[in-house]
Amino acid sequence: MSEFDYDLFVIGGGSGGVRAARVAAGEAGAKVALAEEDRYGGTCVIRGCVPKKLMVFASEYADVVEDARNYGWDLKEGAFDWAGFKDRLNTELDRLEGVYRTLLKNSGVASFDARAKVKDAHTVELSTGETFTAKHILVATGGRPVRPDLPNADLGIVSDDIFHLPKLPKSILIVGGGYIACEFACILNGLGVEVTQIYRGAQILRGFDEEARGLIADSMKERGIDLHLGTDIVEMRCATEDDLAGHAEGRISMGTPMHEDAALHPVSDKRDGPIWVKATNGRSRVFDAVFFATGRAPNTVDMGLEELGVKLGRKGEVIVDDYSQTAVPSIYAIGDVTDRVNLTPVAIREGMAFVETVFKGNPTKVDHDLIPSAVFTQPEFGTVGLSEEEAREQEPVEIYSTSFRPMQTAFAGRSDRVMMKLVVSKATRKVLGCHIVAPNAGEMIQLAGIAVKMGATKEDFDRTVAVHPTMSEEIVTMRKPVRTA
Ligand code: NDP
Repeated sequence: MSEFDYDLFVIGGGSGGVRAARVAAGEAGAKVALAEEDRYGGTCVIRGCVPKKLMVFASEYADVVEDARNYGWDLKEGAFDWAGFKDRLNTELDRLEGVYRTLLKNSGVASFDARAKVKDAHTVELSTGETFTAKHILVATGGRPVRPDLPNADLGIVSDDIFHLPKLPKSILIVGGGYIACEFACILNGLGVEVTQIYRGAQILRGFDEEARGLIADSMKERGIDLHLGTDIVEMRCATEDDLAGHAEGRISMGTPMHEDAALHPVSDKRDGPIWVKATNGRSRVFDAVFFATGRAPNTVDMGLEELGVKLGRKGEVIVDDYSQTAVPSIYAIGDVTDRVNLTPVAIREGMAFVETVFKGNPTKVDHDLIPSAVFTQPEFGTVGLSEEEAREQEPVEIYSTSFRPMQTAFAGRSDRVMMKLVVSKATRKVLGCHIVAPNAGEMIQLAGIAVKMGATKEDFDRTVAVHPTMSEEIVTMRKPVRTA
């Protein structure tokens, strides 16, 4: 008999926590419990990747009718029904949450619908008042969106709220230039919302390949997103009657002229009324909603971790070693709460590596190198490896890049451009980075990512016969570098 109630107690029922729990129980035969204070599935399934991607799909139908007409179909435009979509979305999320609960149950994991805190190195205390001991504790509590430190910032919504809006706003200000800001700028623009986006930096999607960022920003503007770079929010409050009158007359404007019908709802105290916003460029404007996509913070507040000696970083992230072990040997942490690479498949891998290490006697580090990822903007962005700028810092490189109008949308009369780019080491000929801006670039980069991860050279790409006619064939037909550096 073990001296503990459980071999493993997992705190957090998101992708990483659920995977670790069910593999430890199902494959390694451990006695496992898991506590989740909210819905099972976590950020990715309930308020992130999954509902976001369904909204991407919904928004992409905006172009379908016109494109189809240009292909000879006699179709009529209709309106987007947010309430109908949201009903179907909620049904799907309920289904997925059920799947997660069933997976845990079928693996023999005891699950608790409660908030958990760590009481000592081997004890977890639940909000129900129960306490349990465990040989190992795994913290997989994820992260949460943060608003900037600005008076009245609580008037703005964050990504968690977007899926619950009773109706879509007519106009929205999106603050930020990262994944979430850019993805939702495109989604909401596609769904017919008048979108203004402000970002404090010089170009959106900081850290990614500059050429790709430039093309995405240009495409977003061309699709009607009013994007202002080098701009931040300085003041916000509920709009007054005077603001609304000025707004309707066009006296108040962030950039482009106002639509006459925008934002003329009755003024109310909190988030459901129009919001007056002033930006660093000195302009002000009224929006139906303000959306802060200004980053996320790890969920470590009031968990009892620091008191026990678990080291936290500047953002509150749990500091772990290569095996996801914290400064307290019986406590491990995986996923966004560790703020390493904040992506669902990475959290899952960290969970699997934890189980290998702790329960299967096979110490396994997570490989955080060359992780392919996609940003679901329109057009989509798929990327793996080094950006041109990062690679040039590291070693001499050749750049192969092409940008063109793809057949499908060009025929439909659209001016959309796509980009395929390879960053190649001059010395080893290895492809150090692959960047694709195109419809379905996420699907393409998953496959290109295998080649890059295997260490494929430019000549390996060249030896591969093109699949014709496709967009992605360009990735194997670029013969001459556009520049060397
Ligand atoms: P990001 O860190 O990507 O972006 C945050 C943005 O907000 C940046 O543009 C940042 O500017 C800006 N910002 C931060 N603080 C302030 C402030 N006080 N005032 C004004 N602007 C501010 O975070 P996200 O929330 O977009 O996404 C979080 C993470 O979730 C991502 O890093 C990613 O790992 C993951 N994710 C992945 C997705 C995918 O794989 N498709 C989709 C969505 C999220 P600056 O650049 O100047 O710091």
